[in-house]
Amino acid sequence: MDTVYHALKKDLLLTAKTAYEQKLMAGTSGNMSVFLPEKGHMIITPSSYSYEMMEEKDLVVIDLDGNRIEGIHNPSSEWRMHAKIYKDIPRIKAVVHTHSSYATSFAVVQKEIPVILIEMGPFLKGKVEVSPYAAQGSEEVGINAVPILMRKNACLLANHGAVTVGKSIAEAYVNSVYLEDSAKIYHMACAVGTPVVIGE
Ligand code: 13P
Ligand code: ZN
Repeated sequence: MDTVYHALKKDLLLTAKTAYEQKLMAGTSGNMSVFLPEKGHMIITPSSYSYEMMEEKDLVVIDLDGNRIEGIHNPSSEWRMHAKIYKDIPRIKAVVHTHSSYATSFAVVQKEIPVILIEMGPFLKGKVEVSPYAAQGSEEVGINAVPILMRKNACLLANHGAVTVGKSIAEAYVNSVYLEDSAKIYHMACAVGTPVVIGE
């Protein structure tokens, strides 16, 4: 594979390890990918694989129908969600899916996170909505999230976790960090008083 793939794999691997170290992923949960529209390929993390052990050779290249182009492992079981997002929303070139604790606690009670911090505007594009529940690994996870991600850079997946998107893996990752931070601060603010919501 050419240098473009190599550079993207390097960034994806580093981001996956950083997300794990920052405790946005527990165990082998979560996954992330980048999309190369000119090839119709995505590079995605392997399914159920240790982030600590993960090396560049463990990443998987697939097309949007799930055919494996390169790699020795199965792609993330959520590849259908990643593919649906890339098919339907051309501006998106990277997807990060986590089960980060504070964001996921809102997903579990199916409660949106209102705009309570200025970063939520430029990064997340406003309040964080919850997409309806769908079984893990099904295309429905993506089908349900797309209407929200058409307008936003973050979405909570009911009783599951969170998804953030961007034009690059760096952008999608920083959006995951701001999502978790917003969820944590909103949670704490609710404990000490009544958070004041700022407009969209
Ligand atoms: P994978 O290990 O298959 O990527 O699954 C993790 C996950 O978060 C499923 O929703
Ligand atoms: Zn998940």
